[in-house]
Amino acid sequence: MKSTKDIAALLDEPACEHNKKEKSGCAKPKPGASAGGCAFDGAQIALLPIADVAHIVHGPIACAGSSWDNRGTRSSGADLYRIGMTTDLTEQDIVMGRAEKRLFHAIKQAIDTYHPPAVFIYNTCVPALIGDDIKAVCKSAEERWGVPVVPIDSAGFYGTKNLGNRIAGDAMVDYVIGTRDPDPLPATIKTNSKVHDVNLIGEYNIAGEFWHVLPLLDELGLRVLCTLSGDARFREVQTMHKAEVNMMVCSKAMVNVARKLQKNYGTPWFEGSFYGITDTSQALRDFAKSLNDVDLTTRTEALILREETRVRKELEPWKVRLKNKRVLLFTGGVKSWSVISALQDLGMVVVATGTKKSTEEDKARIRELMGEDTVMIDDGSPRALLKIVHDYKADILIAGGRNMYTALKAKIPFLDINQEREFGYEGYQGMLELVRQLALTIESPVWKSVRAPAPWKVSADTASFEGQSIRAEVANG
Ligand code: SF4
Repeated sequence: MKSTKDIAALLDEPACEHNKKEKSGCAKPKPGASAGGCAFDGAQIALLPIADVAHIVHGPIACAGSSWDNRGTRSSGADLYRIGMTTDLTEQDIVMGRAEKRLFHAIKQAIDTYHPPAVFIYNTCVPALIGDDIKAVCKSAEERWGVPVVPIDSAGFYGTKNLGNRIAGDAMVDYVIGTRDPDPLPATIKTNSKVHDVNLIGEYNIAGEFWHVLPLLDELGLRVLCTLSGDARFREVQTMHKAEVNMMVCSKAMVNVARKLQKNYGTPWFEGSFYGITDTSQALRDFAKSLNDVDLTTRTEALILREETRVRKELEPWKVRLKNKRVLLFTGGVKSWSVISALQDLGMVVVATGTKKSTEEDKARIRELMGEDTVMIDDGSPRALLKIVHDYKADILIAGGRNMYTALKAKIPFLDINQEREFGYEGYQGMLELVRQLALTIESPVWKSVRAPAPWKVSADTASFEGQSIRAEVANG
């Protein structure tokens, strides 16, 4: 189990903006607000996309049951991550002291059945409270079966989902990264330009959206050693220490990984986003700048020019349909500004944006994009959101899945922008998908139907009107 000192060290993350105010990590939820996931949920969400690993949740079934597979992350091959594995601890196991033994057998069963390259063990509240030594169990299982078994000590009560992301990142730095060197480039690849090795940290390949960007990186000669963790494989995570530069994609959730790779291996990192034309181009330029390669810079500019020209041409017919449509954007962190830039690229008006999980730096970028008087929303309650939709005459609410029913019950068009979404919006190609989904949502005929008075209400009104006429005729004699 982690000590208070270990948790305090994880919360005190020098690369995190929140840390500048108080050394307590990200803001805790206020009483009455939805708390979000626990530390275990955060750790599992961060690592579950590593597709060929057996992920075992050590705890009662409810921990795994309430959080398994809740991201729309995609894999291009291995699909072991889709199988939910748990030690399913019961009262009997706890009373009889059998929890560690169950874990040992669960690891054996996973290895015998699926032959994974590695097994990840997620600790939860109950085994942490009864004092299970998961590190020792993992170590002896690894020695016994010769397969890496990684302990991720992420009991839910340690803290928030964000802390869980960091615990997951730390486990990768401590146990996985640096244990293997990347394969040499295949002899079939012949190029006159230098190939650079890079990593992406915090890229989850939601709805397969990273596959919009990967061909561009390939074309520029940027070999992605690993995306932590969308569509990743265990053997890729092992090689992350050899990258020349790391990009933190859209999220500071695993900023501790970028910082520690810089500290331990001297790898520089930058923060960027692939949402929107402007930000995608900027991210590609930042790669070239960090790698300090003149030839790469020239080729990057040529690729940006070609792609921007192509995509802007294809966006034209959609832009006419969306121009001046008003958007209320309610999402957290970096997405609060990166999506604004994507929507402004489309000629849409962002009337307000959510800043609940945004840093001061994020807010500064929002002001840069939307002006000083921009409306920033901290209160994400349904009542507050609907009030802003009505006050600012928004045509659509773009938010996470948990706001979907707020919007639909109020008969407001809604687009899901968070991890459960079905469509990928990254890169130039992702913009075309975003614009298509926005237009289809706003123009759907369903809004006209649901906003019209219910048929039975119309006939009831007519009936009562007819009743009044009959009574008037009787009265008139
Ligand atoms: S708070 Fe504890 S018991 Fe609840 S889901 Fe998280 S790890 Fe499991």
